[in-house]
Amino acid sequence: MNIHEYQAKEILKKYNVAVPEGTAAFSVEEAVEAAEKLKEKGSSLFVLKAQIHAGGRGKGRTKKSGAKGVMLCKTVDEVRKGAEDLLGDTLVTIQTGEEGKQVQRLYVTDGVDIEKEFYVGVTLDRAKGMNVIMVSTEGGVEIEKVAEETPEKIVKEWVIPGHGLYPSQARRLAFALGLTGKAFKQGVAFIQTLYKAYDATDATIFEINPLVLTPNEEIIALDAKINFDDNALYRHPDIQELRDLSEENPFEVEAGKYNLNYIKLDGNVGCMVNGAGLAMATMDIIKLAGGDPANFLDVGGTANVETVKNGFRIILGDPNVTAILINIFGGIVRCDRVAGGVIEAVKDPEIADKVKNIPIIVRLQGTNAEEAKILIDKSGLNVTSAVLLKEAAEEVTKALAS
Ligand code: GDP
Ligand code: MN
Repeated sequence: MNIHEYQAKEILKKYNVAVPEGTAAFSVEEAVEAAEKLKEKGSSLFVLKAQIHAGGRGKGRTKKSGAKGVMLCKTVDEVRKGAEDLLGDTLVTIQTGEEGKQVQRLYVTDGVDIEKEFYVGVTLDRAKGMNVIMVSTEGGVEIEKVAEETPEKIVKEWVIPGHGLYPSQARRLAFALGLTGKAFKQGVAFIQTLYKAYDATDATIFEINPLVLTPNEEIIALDAKINFDDNALYRHPDIQELRDLSEENPFEVEAGKYNLNYIKLDGNVGCMVNGAGLAMATMDIIKLAGGDPANFLDVGGTANVETVKNGFRIILGDPNVTAILINIFGGIVRCDRVAGGVIEAVKDPEIADKVKNIPIIVRLQGTNAEEAKILIDKSGLNVTSAVLLKEAAEEVTKALAS
């Protein structure tokens, strides 16, 4: 699960990781109010930041107003103008793709003077089976580029499971950033608290880019990106509440409600399959047949009427779908039951109306496959049955050509 920058910074603050003061705003008035509050506390520079689940905002522009996703504002009026431009507009960055993301939330922070920009990241190194902390003096820019072009500029320390981060490791990392004196001490403390926060929240990524050194030798996180391990979220109900569904694909959110594993893709052939491996193979078959899968959909072990109906609803919500391939292996489930489920689902008035012009190919293999085929062939519905995957592929090709 991904969260917004302002939420990430609230978590960091809770763990005593240094972040600039700031407030989230959902309207222009709230943004102005936040800036005024900062001004009262002595701020003379404000940073207005679009909150979307994507980075590269500083270099991004909104579609209508052409506003930057991160603005340095000298006055409260500039904050007001910036908020007006950003809210509701679509921000396009290197990470959002051309369609961009709509800005619905803002973050107003105290502007920090920057002496130097660094990078710090914590993640799991799967190859080594250890968490890794990475730092680089090349902060503020795309770290992927640094990793590719000058990998020696990224210094890493691996944490032995169960041992935690040794103080000597934090010192080595702070030293690698060229920090000295008070800044060095702050850097060591920053890295230690950051790692503690990462560990305690079951995160998969903590990325601070840039981490900055101020002219007063303070070390502070100007940006924060956090991802959490979905499988550990049950241990963190407070973190679960930070989920912003409007940032996620609506079909995927809907599928999640029904416990279906759905991932939206760009093609035209919707598919409904039981088992992730078979779903992958089915997508290959669709490609082979000259189509492009519109989605990955694994309905899991129980392909009953309800699951099939929900699967149809989600697939049909995608306007690009011109054909549907259902590929079910009857191991635990019996194929004739699944066929009955498909027939009932296709007769459902809401679904029937939508599939009038969409050919459906059903391939059932396994227990009672022959009976299932007879059921479908006799149903009188616009559903083509196939027993072999090859036949199913040929039917998809035919459906796409017609
Ligand atoms: P991103 O572009 O989405 O990664 O957003 P960031 O939060 O990293 O902001 C982009 C850039 O804006 C940073 O790399 C900084 O150069 C600049 N920036 C952000 N906050 C401040 C600030 O408080 N003071 C100054 N001077 N620059 C800032
Ligand atoms: Mn950044």
